[in-house]
Order: sequence, then C-alpha cells, then structure tokens
Amino acid sequence: MTTHSIMILPGDGIGPEIMVQVRRIMMWVEKTHKVTFAVSEGLIGGCSYEENGVPLTDETLATARMSDAIIMGCVGGPRWDGKTDYDKRPEAGLLRLRKELDLFANLRPAICFDALADASSLKRELVSGLDILFVRELAGGVYFGEPRGIENLPGGGRVGINTQRYTDAEIIRIARVAFEMARKRSGRVHSAEKANVMEAGLLWREEVTKLHAAEYSDVKLEHILADNCAMQLVKAPKQFDVILTDNLFGDILSDAAAMLTGSLGMLPSASLGDDGPGLYEPVHGSAPDIAGQGIANPIAAILSFAMALRYSLDMGSAADQIEAAVADVLARGLRTGDLMSEGMQLVNTADMGNGILSALEN
Ligand code: NAD
Repeated sequence: MTTHSIMILPGDGIGPEIMVQVRRIMMWVEKTHKVTFAVSEGLIGGCSYEENGVPLTDETLATARMSDAIIMGCVGGPRWDGKTDYDKRPEAGLLRLRKELDLFANLRPAICFDALADASSLKRELVSGLDILFVRELAGGVYFGEPRGIENLPGGGRVGINTQRYTDAEIIRIARVAFEMARKRSGRVHSAEKANVMEAGLLWREEVTKLHAAEYSDVKLEHILADNCAMQLVKAPKQFDVILTDNLFGDILSDAAAMLTGSLGMLPSASLGDDGPGLYEPVHGSAPDIAGQGIANPIAAILSFAMALRYSLDMGSAADQIEAAVADVLARGLRTGDLMSEGMQLVNTADMGNGILSALEN
C-alpha cells in the first residue's frame, strides 16, 4: 500500500464547495487503487487573511512543501478587492506559494469534450476532439523582470516600465518540460515567441532550437510567432498539440484557447517545479456571484486532481478513469448551470459529483 501526502487548500468563494467533491473522488481512488492519501488541509487567500492576517502562513507553506501534491480551490472575492496593501491580497498567497516552491512550469490543457463541442465559440468541426497542452513559463519574463515601475519624467508626464527578461537557463528548463510532455503525447511542439521584434524572443528561439537538436530531435519542433499562434488558435486549433511559450504570451494564448472548449468551470491546471510538490488548481476564480449556493461546477477541480495523479503521483491510469468518467457524465447530459443548454439535465455541485462517482463505479 502506497501513501501519498496531499495538501488541500480550498481557498475562498466556491473553493470549499468544489473541494468537497474532489475529496469524494479521492476516496474512490483510495478504495480502488491500493493507495492511501494522508490529507492535510490549510487556508489560503482571503480566508487565511481573516484568520491569520496574511494570505499564506509560514506553517501552511511548510506543510505544502513537505507534501507530494497540493490541490487548491481558488482565492479572492469582493470583500478583499479594495485592499491596497499588495502583500495582504488573497492572490499574494497564491503567488507566494508558486514562488517559494519555484513552480516555473504551468501546464494548461485545453480539451474540448465531445459533448460540449456545441458550447464552443467556434464551429463543432473545428473544436471537436481538440486536445492542446500549453506549457507556459510561470516564474520569469515581463511579470517579474527588473527594472519595473511607474516614474515621473523630468519634463513632466510619467512612464510605466516593465522588462521582458529570460536567461538561457530559464528557457532551457521550460523547453525541456515541453519536449518531455510531447514525447508522452503526439510528439509535436510549437514554440511561440516574438523573435522578429524582441531580443528575449530571439534568445528563446535559439535556445529551444539548440536543446531540440541536442536532446529531442525525435520530437517535431516548429517555431511560430505569438501573434500568428493567436490567429491559428481561432482558425484551426486542432493543428496544435503542445504549445511552449513564455509567461505573458502563455497567459493570453491559453485563455483564448480555454474559451474554445466551452466553460471556465471545465479547465484544470498544474504548476510544476524541478522537484518537490506540484500545485494543481482550476483555472477559474472564486466565482463570488454563485458562492455558497452549491451550484458551482466541480469538474475543473476534479480534473486538476486527475492531473495531480498523473504528474505528481505516477497514477496515470486513475487519472484516465476520472477523465473518462467526466466525459461519460457530460455525454449523459448532466450539466451545471455554466454548461447548461436546451434539452440537458440541470444539476448542482453535489449531483455532478454523484454522477462522476457513479460513472467511476461502473
Ligand atoms: P471567476 O472565474 O471567479 O468567475 C467568472 C465567471 O465564471 C462568473 O460568472 C462565475 O460564476 C463563473 N464561474 C467560474 N468558475 C465557475 C465554476 N466552477 N462553476 C460555475 N461557474 C463558474 O472570475 P472573476 O469573477 O473575474 O473573479 C472572481 C474572484 O476570483 C476575483 O477576486 C479574482 O481576483 C479571483 N480569481 C482567482 C483566481 C485563482 O484563484 N486562481 C483566478 C482568477 C480570478
């Protein structure tokens, strides 16, 4: 019997509601896969600020660091929106977690389940069967580069400054993740940057090319300008398998691709470092408009747990089973409000959990 330590951080808003359903799926995995999950639960975000005065305590961080995987819900809400003290904002807890654990690789699948193809903003034939994996650099680039700030100009007026900065080592470590992922999928990587107008983009292209030639020539590599990648994503998204890109372009391109798949409530993500635990969380926020009503879609959180099984716990077959159960429930017409369309059966959070569990049992 293997034991894995899991830290659960439900967070704010709908986080606690969706995490109840994740716990039920975890229990099913324990029952059927000869594994025990040693679960600890902690606070992150606004709820941690209310309790402890900070959005993430040192103790919670230490427990997270010691675990095999961290499953998070979501943070934030209108109660803390006006907070000007940046370090006390709910998001600061999440950013600290990512930074302290050096989670530099953000994996965001954009998968279109067949039953939801009509909910996409594109035609069914363009998105049905879509399965893209974004590998986004998460710890560097323009969001962190120095110098940064807003300064007064000597002759009057102001200037806002951010710096796009990547070292060769930062590029190589994220490119390696993309090539490794591609080897487990269809063996293709598109690397997106702006090498035509940015030196950081040129270095990116050179380093990715070198690594590819030295270690990954079995993978098919194509370079694509980020603006063309955006166009191709809405024109013919199925041409892509793995898309490797930096922090800023990854933020934008993966959000655009996300919308091709139907609903925010469906999208999981993983953030990985070189070693130590991965952080798994839905892409969506805390949905304050529906929090506390028991109607949120738990699928993004459940699929995030499936990613933890696959990438941190070496339990890919359990992840496959969960993903198949989600597809099955959708094919049977169960829909939470965010996915609802005519002729489908409207269910609440717990009912969606029941549906996935009964698909797993069968
Ligand atoms: P949001 O993702 O919370 O909600 C956007 C819309 O999608 C809302 O109408 C919401 O009801 C709906 N939605 C989101 N998830 C859903 C689900 N699982 N089931 C059903 N409907 C769902 O984005 P927002 O409204 O811009 O942000 C709300 C709060 O969340 C803000 O405080 C923001 O800072 C925070 N936020 C946190 C994260 C995170 O924790 N990683 C990410 C984004 C936003």
